[in-house]
Amino acid sequence: MLPDKVAAAAADQYLSVRKTEYGGRGYFAAKNIPANTRVLTCRQPLTYVVFKSFKKEVCAYCFSYDNGKHRKFRLVSNLKRAYAGVYFCSEECRDCWVENYDYDGLLSATLEEIELAYIQLIASTVKAPSYEGYDSSNIDELWDKVEKEFADPDVVSRPSSVLSVSTTTSTSTSLASSVCSSPVSESSALESVSSPVSDSASLSSSVSALSSTSSSRFRKNKKKKVKLPPLDGVEYDTARVVALVLVQNHRVQNGTATSEISHEWTKFNLLQSNELSHIGQYREFITVHVNVYKFLRTVLQDDLRLLCTPRLLRDTVGREAGNAFGIWELPMMMESECFGTAVYPAASFFNHECEPSVRKQRVDNSLVFTTIRDIAQDEQLFISYGMMEELPYPERQRILTDQWHFDCQCPACTRDKLESLSL
Ligand SMILES: [Zn+2]
Ligand SMILES: [Zn+2]
Repeated sequence: MLPDKVAAAAADQYLSVRKTEYGGRGYFAAKNIPANTRVLTCRQPLTYVVFKSFKKEVCAYCFSYDNGKHRKFRLVSNLKRAYAGVYFCSEECRDCWVENYDYDGLLSATLEEIELAYIQLIASTVKAPSYEGYDSSNIDELWDKVEKEFADPDVVSRPSSVLSVSTTTSTSTSLASSVCSSPVSESSALESVSSPVSDSASLSSSVSALSSTSSSRFRKNKKKKVKLPPLDGVEYDTARVVALVLVQNHRVQNGTATSEISHEWTKFNLLQSNELSHIGQYREFITVHVNVYKFLRTVLQDDLRLLCTPRLLRDTVGREAGNAFGIWELPMMMESECFGTAVYPAASFFNHECEPSVRKQRVDNSLVFTTIRDIAQDEQLFISYGMMEELPYPERQRILTDQWHFDCQCPACTRDKLESLSL
């Protein structure tokens, strides 16, 4: 069997998705499961991003990192130019990435469109619009307006020639790097935890008009000129996460998705969107989401551009906010850096507890879930919030409250709370 079939079979054998008493979904034991049983393997994320500030240092396939050294292997276009803004630790990883994420060339072409447009917009003096006055209560109104405005942006961008990927090694780099990115939570629960992708999303405030020179990728439209502000780092990262979702969606719709992608796509659509609670906590993300929507509606080619609807974008960022796992520097320690985020839909059915029954381990770009103790049939399985089990109760609560605005009521917290009250 192929690895994805094995993983799916294991999940079906041990785990069943059921409603929890809090109304969300969770994994329950389909039968008695002994300790140290591998109950789920997620072979690769459905969508992910290595943050802009790490993308030259972290392999885009296996997520390895070597003390900040630049990764030397890149995709190279048939024009012998570095391509698509992805970096790999080895030729093998590059080949695996092409085989698993870019087997039809669609992802690299899309990422390249984003790269080129991003670079071009650095010089843009268009001011990022302000969406003050919008919050989770009236966000639909804003999206209705934006959807009408960008129904047909009349601006088409295409690479000047069709690029194909060769496997020549290149060390050339083309991007100005360096915008901010900040850690995401290790992971988060379907039911209640929403994790900020970043706590700072303020937009670059530089102002200018998008130049429409003959070298511009943006064709000037006689009736309407679409102007875009430069993307900041968070927007750039968000655009790449959404781009991969669009590519996967396109494959599912066109029958070119692998069975693994189709499987994960179905699960992705079952995930709860945390959009409203997320923008409720971090209103600046309204601007991020709208800017990314406008950007993608403007720069992507027709097929993907038309798939990029407000609904898809909002569901994607909302699910990402609640379900993404951080791509952490390994071995995992308190001081580990978070390099990016990855969504493994099948893994998101695990809820979280401070005394978890299942261990999550990242092996390259896979997530492996193994039982820590014996689990009885029909018991719900829980993973950890990440690096918190060892902490005393008050410290745990402080972190959960500060970072996730969440009061954990798991059995361990309930017990520890009672103990602390009786002291
Ligand atoms: Zn690698
Ligand atoms: Zn707890």
